[in-house]
Amino acid sequence: MATFFVTGIDTDIGKSIVTGLLARFLRSARVNYISAKLIQTGSKDIAEDIITHRKLEGIELLPEDRAKKTCPYTFKFPASPHLAAEMEGCAIDPAHIAKCVNKLAESYDCVLLEGAGGLMVPLTRDLLTADFIAEQNYSLIIVSSARLGSINHTLLTLEAALNRNIPIAGVVYNEYPRGNSAIAEDSKLIISDWLKSHKIDAPLIHLPHVKDLNNPPTVDFSGIFTQDIKQKVKIKDKKALELMLKFDREHIWHPYTSMLEPLPVYPVESASGVRLKLADGRKLIDGMSSWWAAIHGYNHPVLNEAVKKQLEKMSHVMFGGITHQPAVDLCRKLIEITPEPLQKVFLSDSGSISVEVAIKMALQYQQAKGLKNKSRLLTIRSGYHGDTLGAMALCDPVTGMHSLFTDTLAKHYFVEAPLCGFEDEWNPEDIAGMRSTLEKHADRIAAVILEPVVQGAGGMRFYSPQYLVELRKLCDEHSVLLIFDEIATGFGRSGKLFACEHAGVTPDIMCVGKALTGGCMTLAATLATIDIAHTISSSEPGVFMHGPTFMGNPLACAVAKASLDLLEQYDWKTKIAAIEQQLKSELAPAREHPKVKDVRVLGAIGVIEMKEAVDMAKIQKSFVEAGVWIRPFGRLIYIMPPYIISSEDLSILTKAMLQITR
Ligand SMILES: *Cc1c(COP(=O)(O)O)cnc(C)c1O
Repeated sequence: MATFFVTGIDTDIGKSIVTGLLARFLRSARVNYISAKLIQTGSKDIAEDIITHRKLEGIELLPEDRAKKTCPYTFKFPASPHLAAEMEGCAIDPAHIAKCVNKLAESYDCVLLEGAGGLMVPLTRDLLTADFIAEQNYSLIIVSSARLGSINHTLLTLEAALNRNIPIAGVVYNEYPRGNSAIAEDSKLIISDWLKSHKIDAPLIHLPHVKDLNNPPTVDFSGIFTQDIKQKVKIKDKKALELMLKFDREHIWHPYTSMLEPLPVYPVESASGVRLKLADGRKLIDGMSSWWAAIHGYNHPVLNEAVKKQLEKMSHVMFGGITHQPAVDLCRKLIEITPEPLQKVFLSDSGSISVEVAIKMALQYQQAKGLKNKSRLLTIRSGYHGDTLGAMALCDPVTGMHSLFTDTLAKHYFVEAPLCGFEDEWNPEDIAGMRSTLEKHADRIAAVILEPVVQGAGGMRFYSPQYLVELRKLCDEHSVLLIFDEIATGFGRSGKLFACEHAGVTPDIMCVGKALTGGCMTLAATLATIDIAHTISSSEPGVFMHGPTFMGNPLACAVAKASLDLLEQYDWKTKIAAIEQQLKSELAPAREHPKVKDVRVLGAIGVIEMKEAVDMAKIQKSFVEAGVWIRPFGRLIYIMPPYIISSEDLSILTKAMLQITR
């Protein structure tokens, strides 16, 4: 609706000058506009008024002007349009005018349309200009002045517009011609009062006398335009957005999504702190940290700066035969903050790949030891280790849909996941399955892999750290390596820098990823002991058989190092303890609800487990409407917000969770 119709309260009141100045204003505001004239009478060739517009805009005539696209009708005889047309033996076709205007509106965000005569002037014998404007839903700009009789004409024009529901965008009060300052002041007061009493939010703008068209005054018309122009730009953006979403729907896979009936996706335009800004301007409080990753929130200046600085040097270089400062700095830091025995770092592109690397390390290690039979792994159910084939073979067989890939997936050993909760008293029975499997099959098992303390995507379960203490002993007894997948839990999430610290247990191999770069980029690392690295290297083929193209990507390493430094610079332990306390107290009421099976909290992770799977599309929509970004799966509604979240924002998240479970 950004077509404006400029009408005068009378003829010869300065419509063309006002239209030209409005155009000039839009030009300076870089709006994509065009001005046009509905019908020109008393003029043969190119509409005189258009020439006035262009002069005031300070531009040449446009191709549209020469093609008469900016003025559909010109008549020689100076009279009301219907009469001027009749005198030349023709009639005005309002549909043709509307079509011409619509054509212009297709290429321009704003069309300024100068009328002929006043609002109640007939276009045809059957149609008044006012009725045409109302039909087309153009916004009205009324040019008034300080002539004798003007106040009467102005109010009549306003009433005529109001009666037809024509949106009034503004009134321009032209000092000239024949201005009288006492009349002017009084009229302006009366017009303002009229607008106010009719609850019309349109400005009354004073236009000083325009003496010289080549040197016009600068007038601020923004009050007239902002609303409608913004509206128009929104409509344009909306169209682009619809096209984008259509393409997305038709061509792009999303995680675990149907290509036939994809669930809706929400376009995010930008993100800052703990807020995601949607394309429609809504801001959502982020409860997901983009799947455990964005621990410092989004658009962090320190992380951005690290990327920029590295970008100026190099974004990438191969890692074969080459090294660089960002990789060295990051690996030094990782060795420093991870458990002491982990001294060798293998960098890779993503969590799943770091798990593949861990598996291959374990296998090559056992082969180097001459234990070729140790070609399988052992893990607990309800785990999650990634979506690549190797990692997937170690995910929970049910939630990981192993049945789909039975013939392809590597066969590994599975035992029940521990039942003892994080704070429960230790029950030695919990480790019995693990013990008996190791006793029976250790000669076939290269390593045990699991997520320490927190099982993430496989069920959001927290189990007793004592399990890890017992497991470490068993692994050592049976010469089986222990791999901790800390991809979700690493870097403070569970309340300790690494979840294995809850148990005081050290693995032989450890995977980190997700929050490693503060959620800025994809990067992961597999850390191993000296024994593993040296054993692999001391036997055929003497090297570890892996080397991704983007290994050690400098940009990712630089931002990861910056993220780890950032974490060190504030008291994240206290912050996460506070988040944990708040989650515990604010989520507790959900326990009372009949549809809720369990509520659990550890560190900055809060989980409500429902008795039945939730309706994802519905629940997602409700969350967005509540102003939060929480993405449940299956029976689980859970959050792991950025550590920087304020307690007020966290309360909004927990409130939304409680609301949903009701
Ligand atoms: C996410 C995750 C992975 C896989 O990481 P990607 O970067 O998605 O490949 C592996 N293990 C755990 C515990 C995870 O949470």
